[in-house]
Amino acid sequence: MESDNFRFADVEWKYAESHDVGSRHQLPPVRVGVNAVSVTCKQCGAAWQARQYGRGRLYPAFGSVKVTCPSCGAGESVKTATFQPDA
Ligand SMILES: [Zn+2]
Repeated sequence: MESDNFRFADVEWKYAESHDVGSRHQLPPVRVGVNAVSVTCKQCGAAWQARQYGRGRLYPAFGSVKVTCPSCGAGESVKTATFQPDA
């Protein structure tokens, strides 16, 4: 998994919980976004754990997340689909 500026690993997905009260079936959880991901910057080699808060945080957007390197400031909007294991 990678984009122009970053390489990604160990994606921690954010799941929507299913509250389908009328159904006996356990619905599979739905991936609605990325909670955290290990990022390596291709520009400066920095590696960090990007989360929704703190250093090098992820900015969720529609269908993508904005990633900014805390070391060199390289930034990029990365489509959420990029983080899918089969992408
Ligand atoms: Zn960097």
